[in-house]
Amino acid sequence: MTRILESYALDRWFGATGGFADIPSAIDAHPVARASTQGLDFAAMVRHARTVGGPALRALTFHQRADMLKALAAYLSTRKEALYALSVDTGATKRDNFFDIDGGIGTLYAYASRGRRELPGERFVVEGAPESLSKGGTFVGGHVLTPLHGVAVHVNAFNFPCWGMLEKLAPAILAGVPVITKPATVTSYVAEAVVRLIVEAKILPPGALQFVCGGTGDLIDHLTGQDVLSFTGSAETARVLRDHPAVARNSVKFIAEQDSLNAAVLGPDAGEGTPEFDLFVKEVVREMTVKAGQKCTAIRRILVPRAQESAVIAALKAQLSGIAVGDPRRDDVRMGPLVGLGQRAAVRAAIAAIAAEAEIVHGDPEMVAPVGGDAAAGAFMAPVLLRCPAPLEAVAPHAVEAFGPVATVMAYDSLDDAVTLVAKGEGSLVASVFTYDAEVAEALVFGIAAFHGRVLVVDRDCAKESTGHGSPLPGLVHGGPGRAGGGEEMGGLRGVFHYLQRTALQGSPARLSALTRTWLPGAPAPVPQEHPFRRDYDRLAIGDTVETPARTITIEDIEHFAHFTGDTFYAHMDEAAAKANPFFPGRVAHGYLILSFAAGLFVDPAPGPLLANYGLDNLRFLKPVSPGDAIRVRLTVKQKQPARKAEYGEVRWDVEVFNQDGDTVARYELLTMSARLTEPALA
Ligand code: NDP
Repeated sequence: MTRILESYALDRWFGATGGFADIPSAIDAHPVARASTQGLDFAAMVRHARTVGGPALRALTFHQRADMLKALAAYLSTRKEALYALSVDTGATKRDNFFDIDGGIGTLYAYASRGRRELPGERFVVEGAPESLSKGGTFVGGHVLTPLHGVAVHVNAFNFPCWGMLEKLAPAILAGVPVITKPATVTSYVAEAVVRLIVEAKILPPGALQFVCGGTGDLIDHLTGQDVLSFTGSAETARVLRDHPAVARNSVKFIAEQDSLNAAVLGPDAGEGTPEFDLFVKEVVREMTVKAGQKCTAIRRILVPRAQESAVIAALKAQLSGIAVGDPRRDDVRMGPLVGLGQRAAVRAAIAAIAAEAEIVHGDPEMVAPVGGDAAAGAFMAPVLLRCPAPLEAVAPHAVEAFGPVATVMAYDSLDDAVTLVAKGEGSLVASVFTYDAEVAEALVFGIAAFHGRVLVVDRDCAKESTGHGSPLPGLVHGGPGRAGGGEEMGGLRGVFHYLQRTALQGSPARLSALTRTWLPGAPAPVPQEHPFRRDYDRLAIGDTVETPARTITIEDIEHFAHFTGDTFYAHMDEAAAKANPFFPGRVAHGYLILSFAAGLFVDPAPGPLLANYGLDNLRFLKPVSPGDAIRVRLTVKQKQPARKAEYGEVRWDVEVFNQDGDTVARYELLTMSARLTEPALA
């Protein structure tokens, strides 16, 4: 029986009242499911996200949201076999599922981990250093990032129903913004199954996730300046959404990933017989055939030095001939069908357009003999390789995206020409450069970087561990300028920041310290009677300070330190040589001596709640310390951060070391772990 898909709105599954469209299988065109959104109240969905989901998410800290993503990832991980089984009808092979389903779950894990490591255990982010705005230091500024109060509407393409949804969902949820997600209808049965698992897991708070299975109705009409619209798909739809009156009128943040004529460039040094030549051929074949080439990042333009053109074509033809196209369930099949007959017709039309300026050198767009599967009803298609004889003059091969197993070889005569050809794509998600020559790498990478969101340089040294041309990664930017849509997804926290508003804050140091829970110079720095190292994490207050007595540094100290550590650098040991150095008045103390003596001045040595020092940040030595100078330290609690383990928290201390004249000689942040409960053994 054909499954009737449902949307998830207002924390309930919603069955449409009519208007269903059949979704055919890519393998044999049998109806897999039916979808419609008739009767769905989009205004109520947006309201629900804003009034229920948003407040619930914003009540949590970044760390709590990160923990939810981790729990979700773990939940989906143990249930992914069911998703693999469903994906078969989209044409996905096992290899394709690895990118879509495992890749989607991996992205949730990656954002969970980043949220924990790189975001504070707070509901806002303090961005960057404070700005000093006044002579007297009583008026300062800084920036905070807080979650938008609206909804993130995600509209996804058909090719990655799981990954496409989760790579957008993870940054939004981590930011604290509820999501209404809409998959492409043609593969929505996979996305619906993922959402059913997420709902069943009961990890996200009410209103945090809603799901539209079918058309978007009047959803976009309800968006405002607190909302984000993030889209992946065709350039036409991107244009419709970008130009939507509500989006334009309300300055809705709009992020788009659209058509992209990605290039791979073989360097002139990488002739036949070099490892880079072989890696290039292998990567092009992989990109043409994974997901049957229905990947926004797939290689569409194959740029080769003219001298290598025939060798590359011969090598590609040999490898493409060995690709078995057919039923994705079979182990001997490398490439499944396209997502549907409509998509195949679109790809054939695109090939015809490109072929006006290129010749087909391998594969027949009209012919296929699939291994298993239904040749007549399935959307099978063999890989098609074209060659463009005059790529500098051609238009279509740089502009028409055949979203299938299709790519065009183009020869270039110089590196400048290669750069010009790549740029004719007018902005792409990714390009890869295959070379083992430093000058070639430099000319190509910096020649084309401005046209790309990502550039991958492949050579024999990194190939084995390279994640490949086509894999967007959570830590790196996915997006591209111009034709690629101008959007930027993932990229580590950059993707989260789309959902946060940056606000400049101004006021007194005391006010800003209190608001941002971050001590700023000029804010109160009380010296408690009890040394702060005796205070457990929860009793430490932002601003708690130690002011130490001074210690005079002698020439004997410097010599002792030099011989003890082995650091007998001339600036510490040789008066004449030190004097000749423009930075020093004569022999000076080691920077590390200053740090060591500073610790000696500020520590409270007895066992206590302070457990460990795990590093220093932002260390600067600002003024030399000469023999006879006396240094003293001010140590202040700057920030506190709960750790994953409940037993301790992380404390960031502002440390400033002064000389006898009150000048700062060193400044840094000390990072420590402090116990949360004073155990008798530690007290
Ligand atoms: P579409 O642009 O047709 O659809 C993408 C998404 O937008 C789908 O969820 C679709 O929903 C939705 N959509 C379509 N029209 C509207 C509208 N007026 N308002 C709101 N949402 C809308 O792209 P496809 O996924 O069908 O792919 C078509 C082409 O897009 C490919 O052949 C390829 O050229 C390109 N593409 C590019 C990608 C990239 O990142 N570079 C990725 C995938 C595709 P529904 O399915 O319900 O129509």
